[in-house]
Amino acid sequence: MAGKFIRVKCECGNEQNIFSAASSQVNCKVCGKGLASPAGGKAIITGGKIVKELG
Ligand SMILES: [Zn+2]
Repeated sequence: MAGKFIRVKCECGNEQNIFSAASSQVNCKVCGKGLASPAGGKAIITGGKIVKELG
């Protein structure tokens, strides 16, 4: 399976793992803010900061 997980920290302080090849919108589980959107088979981080790539 291609892709990897990226750990993203939301503006609210929540950290959450996002699959880099996510095919659907990913929202913060705490505040509901959009964290990633799918674009051409690859997730674009739209909110928060990338803490690290988990490989
Ligand atoms: Zn949040």
